[in-house]
Amino acid sequence: TVRTRFAPSPTGYLHIGGARTALFCYLYARKHGGQFILRIEDTDLERSTAESVNAILEGMTWLGLDYDEGPFFQTQRFDRYNQVIDELLAKGLAYRCDCPKERLEKLRIDQMARKQKPRYDGHCRNLRVDPDQPHVIRFKNPVDGVVVVDDLIRGRVPFANEELDDLIIRRSDGAPTYNLSVVVDDIDMRITHVIRGDDHLNNTPRQINILRALGHEPPGYAHVPMILGEDGTRLSKRHGAVSVIAYRDMGYLPEALLNYLVRLGWSYGDRELFSLDEMIEYFDIKDVNKAPSIFNSSKLSWLNQQYLQHADPARITRLVSPHLGHLGIDPTTGPDLIEVVKAMAPRAKTLVDLAELSAFCYRDFETYDEASAKKHLTREARLPLEKLHERFELMAFDDWTSEQLKYTVERVAEELGVGFGKVAQPLRVAIVGRAASPGIEETLRLVGKAATLRRIEQALA
Ligand code: GLU
Repeated sequence: TVRTRFAPSPTGYLHIGGARTALFCYLYARKHGGQFILRIEDTDLERSTAESVNAILEGMTWLGLDYDEGPFFQTQRFDRYNQVIDELLAKGLAYRCDCPKERLEKLRIDQMARKQKPRYDGHCRNLRVDPDQPHVIRFKNPVDGVVVVDDLIRGRVPFANEELDDLIIRRSDGAPTYNLSVVVDDIDMRITHVIRGDDHLNNTPRQINILRALGHEPPGYAHVPMILGEDGTRLSKRHGAVSVIAYRDMGYLPEALLNYLVRLGWSYGDRELFSLDEMIEYFDIKDVNKAPSIFNSSKLSWLNQQYLQHADPARITRLVSPHLGHLGIDPTTGPDLIEVVKAMAPRAKTLVDLAELSAFCYRDFETYDEASAKKHLTREARLPLEKLHERFELMAFDDWTSEQLKYTVERVAEELGVGFGKVAQPLRVAIVGRAASPGIEETLRLVGKAATLRRIEQALA
């Protein structure tokens, strides 16, 4: 059965690129009825942090990318890596090297001067190095022949063994290195498909050589192209938010972000919207683009809007509450939040936006949107506002319905012999503070009678 893994290094938050890789691994496993494994590659003790592990787990949970096994931690598997290294040593497939720093440095400088790629020259391959003196362990990479990476996205990518050197698999401090740990894990975890960023493509031939030395055939590989910012450079903080959790905090829905991520470098006809189930059905790693993709935040925003509009209002109500809290609003002090959500969601781009658009239902305001006030709270607007105030004041609580409110506004316009907008727009600015809101009757109904009267008085003052 298919087994994929997502193997982040916990040196920061879960970023957009990582999340897309995780999604592809997840989809590939689900599509083939296989398993998806989470492995935390925390061997770099200096850069790995517990906060970062938490941020990764939090991001995965929020996105709903549930894994069948893990999280496994590489730092808990050092004994196993060392066991494999000793096995390679015993079989003569690895060797001790005690080349001093100075020698390696000189080698590098000479090679650079000869315009050669710096690589270890195999000096200690056939020497006896004292195991009690400081040394590293190197893997005996094959000296000739070609390693072919048969990539599901890029096709066949050949590497000449000549170009690869005897890489260090155990450092002098006894720590196993990255390429070794990955290979041992991929074998032990019975990974059938390695899907990862193409920044790892150069590691792949080395890993394949180690795998073969250990008596295994390589898994399938898919190296996913990078994500670039709109300026064509690698996506980074300079381009705005890059962490998954930042998108959550900005009020994006996880399904919108997933939908956005799946379309970054993958397409299915001209279809844009995919539920997770549909992604599983249609996704094929072979259809992922070879070229890098460009991150486009306005498309993400458009998708989020689509999902906000169609999401279950009860769920959106739950999700928007903390954002209202950030604005200092307690939604139990005003109209039913679900009613507000139903009215406002079609105009909101994010949950933060939705909270801001809804704020007027729960609290008065002192300042008006300048352009709206200038245009609509004019001298001619006084008479309609006064008349509306008069009528609203007389309305009974039970009459405070959309139909009655609409009728009242229409009547006032008729009596004054002006168009509906000449009455409704000043009223809207008076109630909402700006010229945009849902239908005026819906707006008034949500705000309620007391606040409506108060705000008209404020506009007239
Ligand atoms: N830990 C590596 C990274 O975060 C991924 C290694 C892999 O997928 O093989 O870039």
